[in-house]
Amino acid sequence: MVASPATLPAADTDAAATNAALRNAEVVALDRANVFHSWSAQKALKPMAIAGGSGSKVWDHDGNTFLDFSSQLVNTNIGHQHPKVIAAIARQATRLATVAPAAANHVRSTAAAKILSHAPSTMEKVFFTNGGADANENAIRMARLHTGRDKVLSRYRSYHGNTGSAIAATGDWRRIPNEYSRGHIHVFGPYLYRSEFWAETPEQETERALHHLRRVIQAEGPQSVAALLLETVPGTAGILVPTPGYLEGVRALCDEYGIIMILDEVMAGFGRTGDWFAFDAYNVTPDLITFAKGVNSGYIPVGGVIISGEIAATFDERVFPGGLTYSGHPIAAASIVASIEAFEEEDIVGNAARIGRDHLEPGLNALAEKHSVIGEVRGRGVFWALELVNDRTSRTPVSANYMGRLKAELLRLNLLPFIADNRLHVVPPAVVTAKEVAQALAIYDQALSAVGS
Ligand code: PLP
Repeated sequence: MVASPATLPAADTDAAATNAALRNAEVVALDRANVFHSWSAQKALKPMAIAGGSGSKVWDHDGNTFLDFSSQLVNTNIGHQHPKVIAAIARQATRLATVAPAAANHVRSTAAAKILSHAPSTMEKVFFTNGGADANENAIRMARLHTGRDKVLSRYRSYHGNTGSAIAATGDWRRIPNEYSRGHIHVFGPYLYRSEFWAETPEQETERALHHLRRVIQAEGPQSVAALLLETVPGTAGILVPTPGYLEGVRALCDEYGIIMILDEVMAGFGRTGDWFAFDAYNVTPDLITFAKGVNSGYIPVGGVIISGEIAATFDERVFPGGLTYSGHPIAAASIVASIEAFEEEDIVGNAARIGRDHLEPGLNALAEKHSVIGEVRGRGVFWALELVNDRTSRTPVSANYMGRLKAELLRLNLLPFIADNRLHVVPPAVVTAKEVAQALAIYDQALSAVGS
């Protein structure tokens, strides 16, 4: 029976959702009749129906299976439906499905301890939020209260989330219609391929980006700058791996001017770059770290702020004016504990590093040798971007039409891609196998050939 789009199917249970009787068309019709989607004009939307998944694969209701090289929104670091995490969620749901944030709850404390065990030794506490945006929101608040200063510096090429200060800190187009929060200043960071600083070498890019940052801090008045909020490796903005020495230079500027360094590890953290935290590859220790996504692969919405001992101590005697009903939700906490245990037991971070080094890097570079539309290959671990250009000299981005055709071709070949502007982001789960990478590389090759230059 085909359900009327405006009403629920007769038996809308989990089992029914993957029931072979349900077809993509009716799932999409029910969505279009009832669901309002993010960041979109609603009328033309044609969402893809996804019924189930396992590891690096998802499937729809019509019998099609796809390699998920998007990790959804770059969050399923542990893959889809990891049995250990699913079992922990089920166990906690039967034990205690919710508890107020003011209570001491063992699974919550264990989740915080597990996260801290992989963070720098200067980090002492975890404040849990519902996701990444409110993690940044609360980190900014902590930095402002700790320093008694107001302004927050972040980068133009960044995304920090869809709430008051987090969206105002964001660099991309999504900030502009939402700019109601005050005190946000933006700077350009290193991006040698499209350098804002006329740089020709990574060293020049680092030196000039740091000079620009110093001058903006000085011009804004260092005594009024509370925090510098940076994605360690800007993700949605293009997987912009920092040029050597940049993050260390930012740390030195923060120390010189008494500014709090907040590293947003929401997308880059928990294995994505082949390290526990993306900043582990650099000689920096932030004051606050924000996380979400990969910490539990998004099985239950959760995020948080990892807080240095020094900043945590600010709130020993003084009230922290912030909180959330679901802060440290026990089912989310159980999923974090099980995820981190699985990461440790299965060496998932090591797998991401090896897959990046031995398979994605050489494989994507080989694709670039064959397809002149690939202007640059950059990334680490399971966090890569292909910058697609009309010609390699002018570096003009390919059109939205080109990207649309590429996306359609990849889906036709059963690969779920992550597309942002003129870029193809290659972001499989950190559990991806060498065989799956080889399959995906063959599909990218075929799709790029089909779409042409
Ligand atoms: N920070 C970064 C780097 C992100 O990529 C995102 C989401 O994509 C966020 C923050 C916001 O996280 P959430 O969507 O969980 O609020």
